[in-house]
Amino acid sequence: MIKINNLHKSYKMGSSSLHVLKGIDFEVEEGELVAIMGSSGSGKSTLLNIVGMLDVADSGIYELDQVPIKDLDETKAAQYRNKFLGFVFQSFNLINYKSALENVALPLYYQGLKRKERQQKSLDYLEKVGLKDWASHLPSELSGGQKQRVAIARALASQPKVLLADEPTGALDTKTSYEVMDLIQKINEEGNTILVVTHELDIAKMCKRIVTLKDGVIVEDKKVEQDLASAHV
Ligand code: ADP
Ligand code: MG
Repeated sequence: MIKINNLHKSYKMGSSSLHVLKGIDFEVEEGELVAIMGSSGSGKSTLLNIVGMLDVADSGIYELDQVPIKDLDETKAAQYRNKFLGFVFQSFNLINYKSALENVALPLYYQGLKRKERQQKSLDYLEKVGLKDWASHLPSELSGGQKQRVAIARALASQPKVLLADEPTGALDTKTSYEVMDLIQKINEEGNTILVVTHELDIAKMCKRIVTLKDGVIVEDKKVEQDLASAHV
């Protein structure tokens, strides 16, 4: 599903530059649930943003679903992003003046779905994340965990091939974090490929595989034992 070879990325900082990714080799198969771990500043978001086609690498190979991403123009890239990728962020990124339902429905509007279809699909996905009864509520009326569930429903409604979550539990308390990760596990069990960026080991252990970044390289890549993945340790 995802194939990355010798990926490099630097940020220009005036006259100097900061080499953030220093030759990343990384593959993800369909149906995996992968945590990308590492301390703050280790390049996790940079890697996820490149995978998510929100940013481009300086060099190296990136293939998504066997398509080399480098050669795509802006329009094609946007099409691929909409079709293949769903995003969940630490800060939820919901639109404050729109209801939970409208937030989930918005990307479907841009996909050209008719109003009735958008509403039905959005309700279905809100139900999937346990928030059907909250459809008409504004984000300000929802808890942090509920907001993240709406964001997950919004990401899933476009039926992406890969769900990318950057610190999805970063703004949540421990109990709520585990609930959100339980939901992410459930979504993965239904067949979705998911990448979760986190700097917390207990969250990473709720994934099936942990890839650890340090100083711009992958220093560890290991499977999580499944009894650990289901237990809240
Ligand atoms: P992480 O998500 O692991 O905390 P990031 O990928 O966000 O790390 O950042 C890696 C490094 O790159 C950090 O030192 C950060 O300050 C720097 N960085 C990230 N984005 C930019 C940017 N747009 N411009 C310049 N430096 C950046
Ligand atoms: Mg980050």
